[in-house]
Amino acid sequence: MIAPLQRPGPSNEVVALHRAAPFTDVHAHPSLSRFLFGHDLWGRHRAEPGFHPAQLRSGFRQLEHGKVGVVWASHYVPEREILNDCSLLRFAGHLVPELDRLRTEDRFVLLREVLDGFEAEVAREPGCAEVARTAADLARIVASGKVAVVHTVEGAHVLDGDVDRVDELCARGVACLTLAHFFHNEMFAQTVGIPPELLGRIPCQFRFNADEGPAISPLGYQLLEKLSACPMLVDVCHCTPRARQAVYDAIGSKRPILATHVGLRRFCPHPYNLDETDLRAIAESGGAVGLILMPQWLRSDGERTVLDVLWEQASYIYECLGSWDHVMIGSDFDGFTDAPDDCWDASQLWKITAMLLARGLREDDVMKVIGGNAQRVLREGWA
Ligand SMILES: [Zn+2]
Repeated sequence: MIAPLQRPGPSNEVVALHRAAPFTDVHAHPSLSRFLFGHDLWGRHRAEPGFHPAQLRSGFRQLEHGKVGVVWASHYVPEREILNDCSLLRFAGHLVPELDRLRTEDRFVLLREVLDGFEAEVAREPGCAEVARTAADLARIVASGKVAVVHTVEGAHVLDGDVDRVDELCARGVACLTLAHFFHNEMFAQTVGIPPELLGRIPCQFRFNADEGPAISPLGYQLLEKLSACPMLVDVCHCTPRARQAVYDAIGSKRPILATHVGLRRFCPHPYNLDETDLRAIAESGGAVGLILMPQWLRSDGERTVLDVLWEQASYIYECLGSWDHVMIGSDFDGFTDAPDDCWDASQLWKITAMLLARGLREDDVMKVIGGNAQRVLREGWA
């Protein structure tokens, strides 16, 4: 008798650690895929490595297969400049109506629509997943064995300059705001957030702003004040190094500062990535760094695998800071990323846990990296 073909899956030890931690991806974009391409997030999707923006990588079946317990769903409304600068995308707007709406409609209104649509999608399977709106909520959902979804928002441009709109996000239970994104948002200076190698393959001439002028505007400082009163966590990804430093100076150790989807400049020198100064400031705030699963941000040698270099970067953070309390995983799946050859969707996230164990990391430290640190920063900064 011929044995049926089976997809390789996690060992019992890995599954037990995922339950206990629980495994948390601190940056993925299922709602963007749903908004732009109408994906059924509960459907069975097959993804492959590489740059395939229309493939779903963080759907609920993929999360379940990867034994992911918590996903921070980053809601992102693409900037108008992306469409205005790129004739190809403007043309695509004729075929994908949602793209065209991004050019003309109020971005905060679109964000509400993204959130409503995503929550309705989560609610289709109330026995399998639920949105957490507080840290206590999150603990209850995790204990029930369901996938817990934590709302985050990427890019303060979505506020359209009105910092009071943060109150609505806060009331809705949004846990974290990524301050900057691809283009200037009148508050925080942003660095180029697309790796040069990938940018070279996109047939568009984006006009990114130069890193000049104030790193944070007076309105940006107002926003930081507002976020601390909410409370909501701050994510410095996409900020320039000067803007990151200004955020560290403004927040200090008042609340955990995060960088949810980055690599390290030691291995991949680019202003988007963090250096030792960033790591120390984030650690001093009680925050943590989510390592991204995108080869072009993790390595500069053109290789397309990430598991080995993830280990190097996680261990480098450990060596700099002397503990495993500041490392997380932020895949950036479904964020128009170029997915690596050895871990290309959420169903494979367990491979990171298997890799950490194979490298000899103690189980309690593995649990910190795959979810414990993410739970801690939420308890400290989202309550
Ligand atoms: Zn991002």
